[in-house]
Amino acid sequence: MSRIVYVNGEYLPEEEAKISIFDRGFLMADGVYEVTSVLDGKLVDFEGHIARLARSLRELEMASPATTEELLEIHRELVRRNRIDEGMVYLQITRGNPGDRDFVYPDPHNVPSTIVLFTQSKPGLADSPLAKTGMKVITIPDIRWGRRDIKTIQLLYPSMGKMMARHKGADDAWMVEDGAVTEGTSNNAYIVVGQTIITRELSSDILHGITRAAVLRFAAEAQMEVVERPFTVEEAKAADEAFVTSATTFVMPVVEIDGTQIGDGAPGPVSTRLREIYIEESRIDAI
Ligand code: PLP
Repeated sequence: MSRIVYVNGEYLPEEEAKISIFDRGFLMADGVYEVTSVLDGKLVDFEGHIARLARSLRELEMASPATTEELLEIHRELVRRNRIDEGMVYLQITRGNPGDRDFVYPDPHNVPSTIVLFTQSKPGLADSPLAKTGMKVITIPDIRWGRRDIKTIQLLYPSMGKMMARHKGADDAWMVEDGAVTEGTSNNAYIVVGQTIITRELSSDILHGITRAAVLRFAAEAQMEVVERPFTVEEAKAADEAFVTSATTFVMPVVEIDGTQIGDGAPGPVSTRLREIYIEESRIDAI
């Protein structure tokens, strides 16, 4: 069934949505994005995603084509029109169409940014079978650029990483730099040692996950100990538990790293409890 998508002020059937071949998103990956999950037809962590979007735009000197209120309205309208109960809303803003190809940024007063939103229905997001078995990851070198804190649409290396994982019979890849894990291809990475949750601290080395922020807040509220520091692959392999977080996977246990079983090879109690808390609280707070 055809979706209704949003492009530059218009709601259109997906077949009718069009973007110029000169759009800088298409030619140069000059754009940013956000993914907001939908539970019970409502938006999870919407404010966090919009705050990060504003930061990404600011860092790239890009204009926002809509206010927070307008973005909320568009998100809700797409969820309504496409009858999304569980799934996600994808939002992308690019530096628009200057009418030609040039490395120099066009003047934002003359070239409006391009904004596109669409939904993806994902029934069973909360009740994911993978969360019950846990996922397998491989490790790969982190050869991405140095501003991983900006959520840009340059996703070729993460995409290659997922394919490398698939070719090795794994579900995802963790990226490693100077011996320490940075993050997953599309998620933040954690280990649990004893009762302590360890995850890399925020910097330009990783994306500042919105789910990460919520999960660390819930962990603190549940009196769990959290330490924000880099951890090595060896530490991760010897850990009691491992997991990742992202808007579309919530908290997802990791049970194998490069073929080494983590803990007893099943999702551990800390990861399982954090997933329950995150989904429970997200249902309550969703708007
Ligand atoms: N790290 C990377 C590289 C990502 O691409 C993502 C999400 O796409 C995340 C972390 C998790 O961020 P969030 O929890 O905001 O979805």
